[in-house]
Amino acid sequence: MNIRKLPKIELHLHLEGAAPPNFIRQLAFEKNIDLTQIFNANGDYCFSNFNEFLATYEAACQVLKEPEDFHRLTRSILEKSAENGVIYTEVFISPDFCGGGDLTAWKEYLAAIEEAANSAKEDLGIEMRGIVTCIRHNGPSIAKKASICAAETASNFVIGFGMGGDELVGTQGDFTYSFNMADEAGLGLTTHAGEWGGAESVRQALQDLRVTRLGHGIQIIDDTNLIREAIDKKITLEVCPGSNVSLGIFENLSMHPINSLLKSGLLVTVSTDDPPFFNTTMTSEYNNLRDVFDWDEDIFKLINQNAIHAAFCGEEQKLILLERINSAWTKT
Ligand SMILES: [Zn+2]
Repeated sequence: MNIRKLPKIELHLHLEGAAPPNFIRQLAFEKNIDLTQIFNANGDYCFSNFNEFLATYEAACQVLKEPEDFHRLTRSILEKSAENGVIYTEVFISPDFCGGGDLTAWKEYLAAIEEAANSAKEDLGIEMRGIVTCIRHNGPSIAKKASICAAETASNFVIGFGMGGDELVGTQGDFTYSFNMADEAGLGLTTHAGEWGGAESVRQALQDLRVTRLGHGIQIIDDTNLIREAIDKKITLEVCPGSNVSLGIFENLSMHPINSLLKSGLLVTVSTDDPPFFNTTMTSEYNNLRDVFDWDEDIFKLINQNAIHAAFCGEEQKLILLERINSAWTKT
């Protein structure tokens, strides 16, 4: 099978985290900002643990200042995704980086991002939707501004609300206000949980934020009761194996629980998280899963079906995606 060309659904991709190093270098050059410290000798992003990763990530974001920068960034990441067969992608967009939580500024950034998404749909055939995202380590009051931005701009394009950032700062429950506001605006809900904070953070996410999806969620593997609860509630895991290995949560892919999670009956999906940071693409994620766990067309079809069912878009869009996935992922 030609994995690169086969259609894929991606649910967990951070807009700024997907910025290719060359793109960030070019903007730094244009704006006369010195970012040499965040790149290694090969020109890749450099970090050696999760905290350094967050610092590098936020340093790279310094060059993203204007709506036009985000227009170019959106185009750039959608080109990469389309090259790897992605036909539908839900992208985390944070008002913290787009106008600092100011609603008027946010609308301008969002319009630029949506315009780039519309043009990519026209000429690359990729559908993008936005998940407005608060950043956990910036605290609940800044998250509140993000949720106001989300609720005020909910649309066919802005379809979800999520939380990223440092999972070890505060609790999921500190952000209940923001998630309730997003819920009332009809947005789908997801949060990073069970990447660093253990199974307990997954329990809190389900109880306090009532999310239907978990960013990563992999540490649920340590709690069989919670696995049962997640299966009963049809919770979907946005698993990003390359990210987890790159950040040292698992030594290599063979130690990663993704296959066990899938076999336990959980709804597993596969995404790249911040692909250039982790030297990955959707194609290489799939190739690695095929090589290490013998995943075949039927399993790839299943994880893409899972992703469609868990997507925050409308039913009409889901039917179109299902048809493409079902007809392409067949054994030859
Ligand atoms: Zn993430």
